[in-house]
Amino acid sequence: MELHQQGDSIFWFDLEANGLKEFISIYVVIDEKISIIETGPASGHARLLDALSTLNISPNDVSYIIPTHIHLDHFGGGGHLMNVCKNAEALVHPRALPHVINPEVLWSGSQKVLGKIADLYGKPTPIDSERVFSVSNGDEIDLGTTKLKAIFTPGHASHHITWVRGKTAFVGDSLGLWYKNLKRAFPVTPPRYDHDLALESIAITKELDLEWLNYTHFGPRECKGALVQVEEEFNAWMDIVRKGVTNNSSPEEILEVLLNERDALVESQRSDHPIQFNFGSERVATHIVSVHGMLDWLRRFNDKS
Ligand SMILES: [Zn+2]
Repeated sequence: MELHQQGDSIFWFDLEANGLKEFISIYVVIDEKISIIETGPASGHARLLDALSTLNISPNDVSYIIPTHIHLDHFGGGGHLMNVCKNAEALVHPRALPHVINPEVLWSGSQKVLGKIADLYGKPTPIDSERVFSVSNGDEIDLGTTKLKAIFTPGHASHHITWVRGKTAFVGDSLGLWYKNLKRAFPVTPPRYDHDLALESIAITKELDLEWLNYTHFGPRECKGALVQVEEEFNAWMDIVRKGVTNNSSPEEILEVLLNERDALVESQRSDHPIQFNFGSERVATHIVSVHGMLDWLRRFNDKS
């Protein structure tokens, strides 16, 4: 397994859950206390343990297991990892807490949104309520010589947290997906997405004086110029979805416009980037789910006004 190093205390690797390369990066922060940020889905559990052993870390030495949010591709394997890392505590958003103690609602909701991809990810296992804690916005976790600060960044999900350590942020899905060879990020906005909150969260992230945005999908991105690009892309997608609604376009027709007009998607098709071939037959599954999420938000937003 190839391990990458960022500075002298962060290691990260490609989880390759379900054999998918360049989809999920997992970060291990080494200080006096050891933290694992994101676990990936249950289907990545064995690979995650391999990585710990390559890093010479005994599961018993892990202090914190910390997701940005609890969608299956980020924390579906959280309970599995907690069962092995006997001394670890998990830290989540208050809204996520009941769903990691009893993941049944999360699981049935995931099956509904993701279909058979949920089965490929695998079912989450419950976490003992005495070992999982909720954090408040602004809370700092003492890792020894450094701290990890929770910044609530709702939008992609209402329970999303960006974790900040110095000039590095673990951004989860709050800034969309980003791949080095595509250069640009693009939104990932499943149902229950909130566009206003997503833009607010981007603005909050802009205030943080960061050098690195550590994406889950995929890898560390230099912060310089990135947040402006992310904001533009989120707005451009929503404009296309809005126009689609005005023209009575189907979600598939809206997706077609995005695939043809947005540079990162055009480029990803040209380069056969794996994001386009998510789970083989489920091509562009990620993007159609994002279109549905944006449509869902427009519907809810219009209902409000
Ligand atoms: Zn997510």
